[in-house]
Amino acid sequence: MLTFIDTHAHLNSKQYDADLPKVITSSKKAGVKRIIVPGFDLSTSAKSLGIARQYKNYCFGTCGIHPYHANKVYDLYEARQEMMKIIEENKEFIAAIGEVGLDYHLYGNEDATGKKNQQKELLKIEIELALQYNLPLILHCRNAWEDYVEILYIYKNDKLMGVSHCFEGGRLYLDKILSLGLFIGVNGLATFSSKVKNIIELIPLERMLLETDAPFLTPEPHRGTRNTPKNIRWVAKFVAGMQNITVTEVSQKTYENALSLFNMLK
Ligand SMILES: [Zn+2]
Repeated sequence: MLTFIDTHAHLNSKQYDADLPKVITSSKKAGVKRIIVPGFDLSTSAKSLGIARQYKNYCFGTCGIHPYHANKVYDLYEARQEMMKIIEENKEFIAAIGEVGLDYHLYGNEDATGKKNQQKELLKIEIELALQYNLPLILHCRNAWEDYVEILYIYKNDKLMGVSHCFEGGRLYLDKILSLGLFIGVNGLATFSSKVKNIIELIPLERMLLETDAPFLTPEPHRGTRNTPKNIRWVAKFVAGMQNITVTEVSQKTYENALSLFNMLK
């Protein structure tokens, strides 16, 4: 049986409140051996760590504020103190700082441009927390590649560890992310976005992680339904096709990669 680690599934989102035990059971049946549940603000970070306690050694939590929620942070110093408190109270359950990054996408009428500075300052604080606690980063970037890479390069000589999840940066930024020693997260977006599809064959397998980003980005052939970790095999199958290798190779190598980045999952 193929085995997988889903390095990014928001089981802390309210879409799973009604049937989380069932989702976990179906993930196990599908060969998913570990799941990282990223927080996206302080309360969902706490919730991810609660899930990590409940499903000990199967689910793992994180702490971080997603750039989309950066505007909710009124006091950066206070946010840093609160994140430190969460990290210190959950050391046995926290696999990473995440998900954090920059996001300049226009969501509905909300324009991120006015919040760029806030996002950047928050990201720096979160990178410094990862370095302070020797934790890997789960990084998010959308429509902000130049600023994102510029900030990451500030820390190039530090022991920066992490994954640029849901990678959609194109060839130029792929090279830059790889040169920083980071992993590249691939999910169902590759199965239906031609922009992402075309980059898959360029990602070295030894630097690739698989994820679902559930409940979002359901891969083909299941688009239109709620995504869950069991769908990770469709992502693996797609990568295998694009790289002209077997699904077993993809599952084994990405599994090893996840264990090497997220020490706690061993
Ligand atoms: Zn996410």
